[in-house]
Amino acid sequence: MAEFALELNEDQKAVRDWVHGFAADVMRPAAAEWDEREETPWPIIQEAAKIGLYSLDFYAQQYFDPTGLGIPVVMEELFWGDAGIGLSIVGTALAAVGVLANGTEEQIGTWIPQMYGDENDVKVAAFCSSEPDAGSDVSAMRTRAVYDEAKDEWVLNGTKTWATNGGIANVHVVVAVVDPELGAKGHASFVIPPNTPGLSQGQKFKKHGIRASHTAEVVLEDVRVPGHCLLGGKEKLDERLARAREKAKKGGGERVRNAAMATFEASRPAVGAQAVGIARAAYEVALDYAKTRVQFGRPIIDNQGIAFQLADMRTRVDAARLLVWRASWMAAAGKPFEAAEGSMSKLFAGETAKAVTAQAIQILGGNGFTREYPVERMHRDAAIYSIFEGTSEIQRLVIARTISGIHIR
Ligand SMILES: Cc1cc2nc3c(=O)[nH]c(=O)nc-3n(C[C@H](O)[C@H](O)[C@H](O)COP(=O)(O)OP(=O)(O)OC[C@H]3O[C@@H](n4cnc5c(N)ncnc54)[C@H](O)[C@@H]3O)c2cc1C
Repeated sequence: MAEFALELNEDQKAVRDWVHGFAADVMRPAAAEWDEREETPWPIIQEAAKIGLYSLDFYAQQYFDPTGLGIPVVMEELFWGDAGIGLSIVGTALAAVGVLANGTEEQIGTWIPQMYGDENDVKVAAFCSSEPDAGSDVSAMRTRAVYDEAKDEWVLNGTKTWATNGGIANVHVVVAVVDPELGAKGHASFVIPPNTPGLSQGQKFKKHGIRASHTAEVVLEDVRVPGHCLLGGKEKLDERLARAREKAKKGGGERVRNAAMATFEASRPAVGAQAVGIARAAYEVALDYAKTRVQFGRPIIDNQGIAFQLADMRTRVDAARLLVWRASWMAAAGKPFEAAEGSMSKLFAGETAKAVTAQAIQILGGNGFTREYPVERMHRDAAIYSIFEGTSEIQRLVIARTISGIHIR
């Protein structure tokens, strides 16, 4: 029987240290500059591509780590380096996972390489689901995809919002309504190939945090894509829609809902790990500062009021990591998420990042409030972790419904 251990194996430690080196030597020194510029840090993505850190191969390798810890360990280190640049590096993976989860082998082989480009010509990809009136409530989605049978083409119309890398991506993955009668079960995902007419970037958002990551609207006006751009293919879609219609008639649909939930539960710990990285970074800055800042003739850490805050910060960071690791391990081991453990990890890690970065500002005093020190940026970056990939309220809703079996509103 396998021994229980919470220690990383040698391969995982080597990957962690390698990513940490990039985060410390390349990302950290550039973080403030790209935060101020509010632009995608292409030269840094390029450097990551050169060493193989921005590539399909690398993420696939981590994704298939049988312990489940490959992805969370990498995420924590990257986001320890900087969250805005980190998101610019891993944003493409969100779109890639959209293709991996729903695409055929041929689609995976065709589109994912085009999402990353190569080290001499790096590209990014975008996953576009959210809309102005469909954020937490994806069933309110309006972007429509209509099949033109004569030409074997799909025609897409609508406006997506908040898309990470939206408009600057080489490949966009767009979720659209194919059967409005079926709510969220009538959605399908499409690949929009590079330079497709009708797709344009709308407003680029000026943000509170993760400012090195590009976030924009994506406008789709009579965007025509070949039939093979429907992820999974038409036959599979028709079968799925027929099953959903049948279930809707009988008042079922539980299995479809469960499958979608299992996907979210498996991906949320990766986002939680990003939040752990930010929280750990701020905690470390605060710990160092508290040891060297002298007031009343002694380092401020000599006061219990400061030292106990640091003890709480460290405890929360470690607890968040353990929840993230547990959920990641469960996903890899195929364990059922009977208490929405994936949502728990994202909820706790996201809230931890917000709280710990706020405490770090307090410990740094006036310096913490300025852009001379990194904790105010970390606090701004942390704020997104209770909003995207399901808000904290939505995570609580999922957990509450799962543990109670009651459809709480
Ligand atoms: C920087 C950034 C990057 C993003 N990247 C992407 C991306 O790449 N692709 C993509 O598709 N989307 C992306 N998003 C969108 C993100 O996922 C949404 O913002 C998020 O799902 C919340 O939706 P909303 O903003 O419309 O908020 P709303 O759904 O309008 O929520 C507003 C408030 O109401 C609360 N609320 C809503 N419903 C309930 C309920 N039933 N019970 C209790 N409280 C509730 C929410 O928790 C929240 O506090 C991004 C967003 C940002 C800000």
